[in-house]
Amino acid sequence: MKTLVIATKNSGKLSEFKQMLEGLPYRILSLADFPPIEIHEDGSSFDENALIKAKTVAAQTGFAALGDDSGLEVKALAGMPGIYTARYAGEDASDRDNIEKLLSEMKNIPWQRRQARFVCSLALVFPDDGFFIERGFCEGMIATAPRGEHGFGYDPIFYLPQFDKTMAELTDQEKNRISHRALAVRKMKMHLIKEQV
Ligand code: IMP
Repeated sequence: MKTLVIATKNSGKLSEFKQMLEGLPYRILSLADFPPIEIHEDGSSFDENALIKAKTVAAQTGFAALGDDSGLEVKALAGMPGIYTARYAGEDASDRDNIEKLLSEMKNIPWQRRQARFVCSLALVFPDDGFFIERGFCEGMIATAPRGEHGFGYDPIFYLPQFDKTMAELTDQEKNRISHRALAVRKMKMHLIKEQV
């Protein structure tokens, strides 16, 4: 069986990837299965960062690697926090710190102007340096207070009108059908099946 390394340290993302890639003929590993790999995530777009992660990990492990860069774009904040989503409230910010910062930045923004979207860029890089990039988006609104216990990151304040729930109120299975990451993975699966790296 072929091996695919998921280039993430985020346990929330990793468990979503494992669930979404189930059934493919790949042994799935993650950064936790290797000695520490330093990744300089200094790109200026989601695509660039996803590619940096996957290229670094493919080069250091000798296996195909899947890199993900994702974040939140808020319309009323001109697309912020964007590529700064993970460190919105500072370098070592927790999910809770980031949520508090976003809610406070948006405290005067009325409901009809709280549109946002999650973005996910995925890069699949082969040991010979060939690669594919795919993207997924998930549209929603920024809630005025956190709700729900599932998921990770900004899920408790990402409201989905079609469910009348936040992302953190969806089950893992529900989230993995509609999330930005799920849509990008769905497209990437075609390459994984075709290439059989
Ligand atoms: P990355 O790990 O550099 O890609 O940073 C992603 C940032 O976006 C982190 O702050 C995550 O918590 C947040 N994020 C990405 N995907 C999701 C999601 O599915 N739900 C909630 N937050 C997410």
